[in-house]
Amino acid sequence: MVQLVKRNKTIHVSLGLAAIILLAACSDAHSPSAPEQQSDHYTMLDYAKLAKIDAHVHANSSDRSFLEQAKLDNFTLLSINVDYPDFPSIAEQRKVALQLKQLDEEQFQFASTFSMDNWQHENWQETVIEDIDLAIKQGAKAVKVWKNIGMSHRDAKGDLVMIDHPSFAPIFEHMKNNNLPLVGHQGEPKNCWLPLEEMTVNNDRQYFAAHPEYHMYLHPEFPSYEDQMQARDTMLVKNPQLRFMGAHMASLEWSVDELAEFFERNPLAVADMAARSGQIQYQSVLDRYKVREFFIKYQDRILYATDLTHNPGRDPEAFKQEVRNKWHQDWKYLSTSEVLQVPEVDGVIKGLALPKSVINKIYRRNAQRFFDLTTH
Ligand SMILES: [Zn+2]
Repeated sequence: MVQLVKRNKTIHVSLGLAAIILLAACSDAHSPSAPEQQSDHYTMLDYAKLAKIDAHVHANSSDRSFLEQAKLDNFTLLSINVDYPDFPSIAEQRKVALQLKQLDEEQFQFASTFSMDNWQHENWQETVIEDIDLAIKQGAKAVKVWKNIGMSHRDAKGDLVMIDHPSFAPIFEHMKNNNLPLVGHQGEPKNCWLPLEEMTVNNDRQYFAAHPEYHMYLHPEFPSYEDQMQARDTMLVKNPQLRFMGAHMASLEWSVDELAEFFERNPLAVADMAARSGQIQYQSVLDRYKVREFFIKYQDRILYATDLTHNPGRDPEAFKQEVRNKWHQDWKYLSTSEVLQVPEVDGVIKGLALPKSVINKIYRRNAQRFFDLTTH
């Protein structure tokens, strides 16, 4: 039954609600290594009690509503600055980060980033390293590199600059010497290289239908998905001591098997879940046991994160509601055995009911350790 769904999504859609619930039950018919007993996992009632960390958000507005909701829900925020043209400038993102950090030194943390402007000037690396040193003094816990490296920034010859380009070497060396982690978002979800009808989650299908310019399936002249992953892996081989967090499940969101191999190849690497819960839940519908075992086996390597983004001008109450809904929904999926429905995935999903000890790591201890946070 599971194989049938894997081969033909239209059959999946036509199964209907009852059959999908049955399917979830079938895919769970193994005997798990960690027994799912009620007392072993948290419930919705425990949600606010546990101190948690969202390890990948974007607080781009100095409005306090994000921080206020985080306090209510017992979350520490790690806001990641990013060289993204649709966001406020990097300087503005840093300014907002410092303002919010001043409001709460513990509950708000941030990662800096650097610009690719002037990349070809001979003092570019020096300027970047000076800014990283300043960011460390200001309290930055990591540095982020975004997918513009690999997907949009070009050298003088017109070739895309990949993350394993030698120009980054002194920067990564400097970070390693300062024990500062690198957060890397390379590539896109694998769906980006697939035709719309083969994409696994609704949000990717809708996004790439609306933005054909970013849909790599339509642009074979760009590097392939595999090229992007290879460049990232080559950079990690060159920098074995660099602490690395692969943003968005290290862009291996489509397969827990692939991510497991990535973890095995890179013992210092971790991955955040930001904006990829749908991809995980899609796999969970096909084989809940396998996804649950993956989280248990790699309980020290996965960081809870959402990618929630607070841009200037949002209505504070509407934003708080969005934040609360997302955090509640993810808690239900990871911590409880309740069933839920999400817009990204068709059908009904049964929560993973991960053991409390695993949830404590994914939601807090892994981020505390990896980013050296002195949070509660
Ligand atoms: Zn992000």
